Amino acid sequence: MTTTTTYPNTQLLVDNVWCDPAAGKSIAVMNPSTGTEVGRVAHAEKVDLDRALAAAQKGFNTWRNMTAIERSDIMRKAAGILRERAEKIATYTTIEQGKPLGEAKVEVASSAQIIEWFAEESRRVYGRIVPPRTMTTTAMVLKEPVGVVAAFTPWNFPMNQVVRKVSAALATGCSIIVKAPEETPASPAELIRAFVDAGLPPGVVQLVFGDPAHISSYLIPHPIVRKITFTGSTPVGKMLAAMAGQHMKRATMELGGHAPVIVAEDADIMLAVKSAGAAKFRNAGQVCIAPTRFLVANKIKGEFTEAFVKMSEALKVGDGLTQGTQMGPLANARRLDAMAKVVADAHAKGAKVISGGDRIGSAGNFFTPTVVTDVPLDASLFNDEPFGPIAGIRGFDTIEEAIAESNRLAFGLSAYAFTRSLKTSHQLSHGIESGMVWINQPAVAVPEMPFGGVKDSGYGSEGGPEALEAYLNTKTVSIANV
Ligand code: NAD
Repeated sequence: MTTTTTYPNTQLLVDNVWCDPAAGKSIAVMNPSTGTEVGRVAHAEKVDLDRALAAAQKGFNTWRNMTAIERSDIMRKAAGILRERAEKIATYTTIEQGKPLGEAKVEVASSAQIIEWFAEESRRVYGRIVPPRTMTTTAMVLKEPVGVVAAFTPWNFPMNQVVRKVSAALATGCSIIVKAPEETPASPAELIRAFVDAGLPPGVVQLVFGDPAHISSYLIPHPIVRKITFTGSTPVGKMLAAMAGQHMKRATMELGGHAPVIVAEDADIMLAVKSAGAAKFRNAGQVCIAPTRFLVANKIKGEFTEAFVKMSEALKVGDGLTQGTQMGPLANARRLDAMAKVVADAHAKGAKVISGGDRIGSAGNFFTPTVVTDVPLDASLFNDEPFGPIAGIRGFDTIEEAIAESNRLAFGLSAYAFTRSLKTSHQLSHGIESGMVWINQPAVAVPEMPFGGVKDSGYGSEGGPEALEAYLNTKTVSIANV
């Protein structure tokens, strides 16, 4: 380690007060590079959740009655504070989550950009005036904040997953209770601290941690909560969406993916290797939009695979705080077991593990960047979200065949393609069933573009104007002048 930053214990935030939970319980936070405990995070119980709910109700009444410009100004100030504290916050992220410090700094910087975009957009939450049926009537459509939001976020992007939800909620005048990840609590707490320090009124944002299932099953049905937003795995998302449906709560679900990468015969092979390869191993593959199924035209498969392996074997794996590290450890020990199972299953079903496939050392959760070729369609690698640094490669003969394989799974989050043909680009962008398609480039998840999936990858969007719409109710008002 080359840092002097001390990793903090993380408290709850209720009504703008950083506090310990009533019962005084806490959970250990581990450094995935060393496997050692680095701090503790507060564990909320029902009594703490009740306080958070009451504060959020009060905060909603304050926040919704402020002007869009006042809200926008506080949000912009929070973005500035985040930038000032970037070095420290990024270090926390690397210590608790494992990603290289450079990636963590990008996450802080992009969080600030997201806040700013939503702050700007908050001034443009327009309703409309509709031509009335009589000249003595005024017909209007109003957009109103949906109310108190409950947000559940995962550990792979500790800040980024929170900031999209908090920014959209704040931009529309909602208050929010965030259940952030227990495994990576300090950096989301710093994100929220930036809002509080920027002047956010008490009760607008609450931060809780604890037992995820206990918290979601208490908050989702609670009458104070009017909207749910969740990022995580498809099985958990389906459970929470069912609960939300049962209680008629609005929901946004950003779930798992299994992104195809179609490399056509006419592709720029080195661009595909560099661009999809970087996306594959970013955050050790623990990204919902990470490329996972590499579908490569048979004519160029050999050349592509050779270059891909060369790139993956050159990656420097290590502690994210060590200069030059390009891939950190997996975020938790259960991901190591998951990776070993995926590799063993592919091997048993006839695939060739041509590079990597093993844990590195015995301390920390390090796993080799792994390349598996000739993956049969029944291998787990080509069916279940791998969520780790394993690239599976399979050949195809026609673009139609590649599109059919892309659409075979129930996932539909993101897809990538490489081709020099405009015709093939159009064919792919229309033919692939997925929420996002990137052609001849890596994923660019900018706040002004919608971000979300279809099919089992969920519904709703976390970017673009659609992201604000998800936090708004539409009200029809017609006033007859008497
Ligand atoms: P998991 O399914 O147990 O948990 C995923 C996330 O959901 C975690 O943040 C967890 O705290 C939360 N969660 C779990 N049960 C919950 C409940 N009942 N109520 C509220 N929140 C709940 O799996 P995991 O081992 O933490 O992660 C592995 C899998 O999760 C991966 O294989 C991947 O599919 C998925 N995942 C997806 C994303 C994403 O960005 N879409 C992020 C992290 C994990």
